[in-house]
Amino acid sequence: MKLKFRNLAIAAATVLGAAMANPAIHAANYPTKPITMLVPFSAGGPTDTVARLLAQAMGADLGQQVIVENVAGAGGTLAPERLTRSAPDGYTILIHHIGMSTAPTLYRKLRYNPLEDFEHIGLINEVPMTIVARKDFPPNTLTELVEYVKANKDKVTYANAGIGAASHLCGLLFMSTVGVQVTTVPYKGTGPAMNDLLGGQVDFMCDQTTNTTSQIKGGKIKVYAITTGNRVSSLPDVPTTKEAGLPELEVSVWHGLYAPKGTPKEIVERLSKSLQVALKDPTVIERFGDLGTEPIAQERATPQAHRDFLKAEIDKWAPIIKAAGTYAD
Ligand code: ASP
Repeated sequence: MKLKFRNLAIAAATVLGAAMANPAIHAANYPTKPITMLVPFSAGGPTDTVARLLAQAMGADLGQQVIVENVAGAGGTLAPERLTRSAPDGYTILIHHIGMSTAPTLYRKLRYNPLEDFEHIGLINEVPMTIVARKDFPPNTLTELVEYVKANKDKVTYANAGIGAASHLCGLLFMSTVGVQVTTVPYKGTGPAMNDLLGGQVDFMCDQTTNTTSQIKGGKIKVYAITTGNRVSSLPDVPTTKEAGLPELEVSVWHGLYAPKGTPKEIVERLSKSLQVALKDPTVIERFGDLGTEPIAQERATPQAHRDFLKAEIDKWAPIIKAAGTYAD
């Protein structure tokens, strides 16, 4: 009996070993344990909000828990760096946003190549940004904000989530359009930045509607404009930057999912399918709608569409960032 059990244990270990060594067997059984989704910014912020909704829906489809881990800091560059050091087995993935396309230009010594060092799983959503301020900040319109910032450039503060964050990019566009530099206050995510805006410790910022909508609706912060070509139905009274007088300031944030380079194709495809299922989930669609964003079309939630779009975005932002002239090491 003892011998039988031992043989069974050896057989099981052999099968497991073979599965680990053979990506095809490993992929066929995938996933057999929880998956970690790295988030490059603090908990409670917009990227984190999208990640948690997605993790829940993908977990239900995959039959395994998807655990969110916030690896915040350095403008969102720490989490991708960590992914390059993670096993390419499908158990560590990353959600990231437009910062994957701006970091290669912004950072002189970026330790990863967004196009070559990852497997691309698919795009997730596109989300507008809003230019917002603490409730008692004097300007009431975008035009007034521009005038106020010009007149008070030495005392105005702008919150962002570090160089490479969407809030940094939007601030960069604002300041280069207006032609002034104000003091920036970097956070590990716009979740904590929002807390300070609510507390009046910083003056203004630009952040995704996924983080600002409820505070705007609750009258807790001021809003000046939406940074995309069209208004959003969840904030119908908020003008676009074009309508409010700054047509040059247009930015739409997108999110994508990544796996370590070398993750078996079957696993990347399984994750991509799961992403597509999650984006059809009624709860995800409803919550996204409430927060002013919507899931990407199914055909764009694929590895090839993601890679192509990332490449186009890198090419689009490089000259704009170079012209603005901000770099980090
Ligand atoms: N979305 C924010 C940014 O890039 C960061 C965050 O998600 O907390 O500015």
